[in-house]
Amino acid sequence: MKDLFIVAHPDDAEAMLGYAIAESTDPYVVVATDGKASTVDEVGDGFVAAGKRRLESIAGLSKLGVPEDRQFYLDLTDGGLAQAVSELATKLQELFGDAGIQRVITTGEDGYDGHPDHIAAHMAAASFCTGLRKSGHEVTLFALASDHGGEVRVTGDQSQKTAALAAHVSQTVGDDITRWGNVDLYTPLIVDAETYRPSYK
Ligand SMILES: [Zn+2]
Repeated sequence: MKDLFIVAHPDDAEAMLGYAIAESTDPYVVVATDGKASTVDEVGDGFVAAGKRRLESIAGLSKLGVPEDRQFYLDLTDGGLAQAVSELATKLQELFGDAGIQRVITTGEDGYDGHPDHIAAHMAAASFCTGLRKSGHEVTLFALASDHGGEVRVTGDQSQKTAALAAHVSQTVGDDITRWGNVDLYTPLIVDAETYRPSYK
């Protein structure tokens, strides 16, 4: 299956969709923003260079089996994706409109954690899918289920997913991925499973 994973930030793919990415035999990953507005930074100034985050993302996705030429960085404004939904949808159409994408996978209608950029990434993906269907392409949109109750349940190699996350050095401390994000919220996606449901919104 030709799968297109669409996320807002560097590290979203590894943290939230990592098992599904690792399982895909034909994955493409779009990272919509440059990640410049990160609030977790071991340097301590609250900001990390977008270039540094790009390198971390390349390394992290590579650990999930996605080579660099299947990773797409669109450098939209971190924190401002809600204002760029149609711009992102247009870019998706330009890049992948004729690529024969069969499944599009996102962090969900609620962004999994409610982050406006995560929600915007899903909205742009949904718009892209609607356009594909209108032009006769069959595509299914799968949304990560924040209630962990999606029909499609994906697990994988926990050490592989952890290693991919740990590649985001600016967001973690060594092997301690607990500093990354909200532990209670994200741990089930690592120690248990990612679950997805088809989405039409
Ligand atoms: Zn994010």
